[in-house]
Amino acid sequence: MRLDTICVQGGWKPGNGEARVLPIYQSTTFKYDTSEEMGKLFDLEENGYFYTRLQNPTSDCVAAKIAELEGGVAAMLTSSGQAANFYSIVNLCEAGDHIVCSAKVYGGTFNLYAATIKKMGIDCTFVDPDAPEEEIEKAFRPNTKAVVGETIANPALVVLDIEKFARLAHKHDCPLIVDNTFATPINCRPFEWGADIVTHSTTKYMDGHAMAVGGCIVDSGNFDWDAHKDKFPGLTTPDPTYHGIVYTERFGKLAYITKATSQLMRDLGSIPSPMNAFLLNVGLETLPLRMEKHCSNAKAVAEFLHAHEKVEFVNFAGLEGDPYHELAKKYMPNGTCGVISFGLKGGREQAVRFMDSLKLAAIVTHVADARTCVLHPASHTHRQMTDEQLLEAGVTPGMIRLSVGIENPQDIIEDLEQALRQA
Ligand SMILES: *Cc1c(COP(=O)(O)O)cnc(C)c1O
Repeated sequence: MRLDTICVQGGWKPGNGEARVLPIYQSTTFKYDTSEEMGKLFDLEENGYFYTRLQNPTSDCVAAKIAELEGGVAAMLTSSGQAANFYSIVNLCEAGDHIVCSAKVYGGTFNLYAATIKKMGIDCTFVDPDAPEEEIEKAFRPNTKAVVGETIANPALVVLDIEKFARLAHKHDCPLIVDNTFATPINCRPFEWGADIVTHSTTKYMDGHAMAVGGCIVDSGNFDWDAHKDKFPGLTTPDPTYHGIVYTERFGKLAYITKATSQLMRDLGSIPSPMNAFLLNVGLETLPLRMEKHCSNAKAVAEFLHAHEKVEFVNFAGLEGDPYHELAKKYMPNGTCGVISFGLKGGREQAVRFMDSLKLAAIVTHVADARTCVLHPASHTHRQMTDEQLLEAGVTPGMIRLSVGIENPQDIIEDLEQALRQA
């Protein structure tokens, strides 16, 4: 099936006389007739539901739909995008390990990898994603276990050269993990370019209506963990907490997601509520329609801003002449996303005055929902960063992040126009 069909038909497959719409299994637990049957589930000998912290039918249907959209073999939903990115790493790394990450990533991901996992003994080296391969290669160490980047970086809007990163990762026997939040599988499917694992903050376009925070990890099933047995002992040696099962032996291509679900989720517990999984599923049904509109609206807005005398710069890979336009054409020929960043002449002060004058576009800590919104990264999402870290993340003090919604583009442009007059 094609992507727009999967969006509405994927996941939930009702049997005769069952609900047409995905049911919300709002239940913590599931009932069995015999003690033995339940015991087998605890040994991972049989597949079934027993406690929602491990698996829930509503969440599983939505995960299956996202796996199908990405072209992966399995997926797991998490309570947030942050949880997805955290689990994607700790499913592979232990204290003493190391990862390589593009410096142009979401502020929350930067903090997670620069500070929080460091306290757990996992080191991260940030690299300039546009640097030549020989330069990026210097970041690798014998204990490097994964390489991470974002298809379209939030908020720098840098497009990742996925093939280049996949080549580097594979040369060093590491999987490439790509956060595909902004592009969504509608506009880019990183597995087709060599990525091994994809993560999402489903909070953004997938939900699309700013209703439910959530995340997802998808595995392509392509990375051969057994070919690097010593490097990934968590997947290739016995797990004493499951009577010594070896995930790659027992589950083959499903090893990575099975370990994430049965071990990490069991122990760390960042599950989405079944209700939130249901809301995400509703959002996914219209994702292709919304992405098309977000992209065409953003292009019109970017062109308007680019031509405006008070605007110093516009970052939008869909715009002709943008430094990332060529990469965007290669990886996202049908459009990138609805997020634009731009700066006003005059910098920080002008930016704040402009934002306070907007009427239709709201100031919110969000991006990628149906309603147009703005945010000033230097005073909001990236407030904890030093000026140096800001620049490394591709954020200038006066930069405004504009998430173009699906309203009429003329109304959005008229609002920007009147606010620019005030600035
Ligand atoms: C928002 C975002 C996250 C974090 O996701 P939450 O759902 O807010 O936890 C991670 N990566 C990217 C690219 C994001 O835009």
